[in-house]
Amino acid sequence: MCTFCGEVEEIVEHVMVSCGLAQYMWSVLAQWCKMPTPFLFSFRDVLELHKFSRFEKEKADVLHAVCPIAAWCLWKKRNALVYKGIPTYVAGLVEEIKVLSFLWIKHRGRKRGLTWDDRRGFNV
Ligand SMILES: [Zn+2]
Repeated sequence: MCTFCGEVEEIVEHVMVSCGLAQYMWSVLAQWCKMPTPFLFSFRDVLELHKFSRFEKEKADVLHAVCPIAAWCLWKKRNALVYKGIPTYVAGLVEEIKVLSFLWIKHRGRKRGLTWDDRRGFNV
């Protein structure tokens, strides 16, 4: 059963897309990215969200980085709950996604001029 809600079988689509925790996380991230809450039906939709964002290329490229980072952070929270009993709070999860996104995009992407303040409002 799902580690977060305990209501349905724990499969990737549920944990990453349809679980209430995941839906709330995507909703908060969409606000941060200044886009409408996306309709996600599969994990593929998460990975391809940048294609349907209507963002200009540079911003879509950043979204292309944020979504896998979000999925990875969500999976780490799932593992922390399973193996260490650490509960997950969306506010903390989203903040971790913002911080990691900032660090990865600034240092692994070509956005050396990105500032810490830019991270707050998804200003890329
Ligand atoms: Zn669930």
